[in-house]
Amino acid sequence: MKIVNIIGLALWVFYTLVYFAILSRTKRKKNKISKYFKVSILLIVILAFVNIIVILNESDAKPEDVNKTTTSSSSEVKNEKTSEVTTMEKTTTKESSGTFKKINHDLSGAIDSGTTSKGYSIQEKDGITYIDGYMIANKTYGLPSTFNPGKLDATVEKAADKMYEAAKKEKGYNMWGQSQFRSYETQKKLYNNYVARDGKAAADTYSARPGFSEHQTGLAFDVCAKNKPCITSDFNSTPEAKWLSDNAWRFGFILRYVNGKTNETGYKYESWHFRYVGSELAEKLYNNGDWITMESYFGFDSEYKD
Ligand SMILES: [Zn+2]
Repeated sequence: MKIVNIIGLALWVFYTLVYFAILSRTKRKKNKISKYFKVSILLIVILAFVNIIVILNESDAKPEDVNKTTTSSSSEVKNEKTSEVTTMEKTTTKESSGTFKKINHDLSGAIDSGTTSKGYSIQEKDGITYIDGYMIANKTYGLPSTFNPGKLDATVEKAADKMYEAAKKEKGYNMWGQSQFRSYETQKKLYNNYVARDGKAAADTYSARPGFSEHQTGLAFDVCAKNKPCITSDFNSTPEAKWLSDNAWRFGFILRYVNGKTNETGYKYESWHFRYVGSELAEKLYNNGDWITMESYFGFDSEYKD
């Protein structure tokens, strides 16, 4: 409890006592006290009491409030609070990730197809590859054309909204998800247009072939910022890109195509492309600012077979 709260509390107790003293003195002098006077005294006492409650609550809740972005006050948030608080202390940021958990895909009946070079499980279900339980879409592991979640995953969308809120609150940045879910068909059109424009080799460095786009998973999206270049390398040098790179992990996101790691991811640096993995893995990959790719962390590659 802060000293201010203690003083405040003491003052309210003092005022209450004074009013009771006045009340009893008036009673002794005059039997007939105006009804209005009684009511007003009662109101003041109630107000004082309410203030005491507020002061007590404030002093108790403060350390948690600082670390709370979410409006949801579910038991989940409470359970994770203690660990989140310690995580947040490192970053000196005002907002916490709340609870951004790994998405649990139903992997019952999945086929075990070995382990990665770093010993993580590779599983396959309905033509989709999961490594250590994370859905993978890169140049090695494609998705079936029929896999169509139709939109961004609800958990991902919620977490992204929290991230935009935090960017607004902490820095005044206006950001939003521009290119989010893309179906196999949409990706096919997009990729074919790029091939027609730049040729296949060039297109492969920045655009995924249909079935190999992370946008088809419903777990990844591109971020744009108001009055800033959108989904282009010109975004890389903006303060918004810097903020995203430093803070996305707090909301369970990873910078998927890290600068200088094209040989791992198979793609050029994309400061705007983020993928949800949950805050636990995101923090590991964030690696205090020196981003590790999923490929490197789990030990798998990203290369087209043909
Ligand atoms: Zn993207």
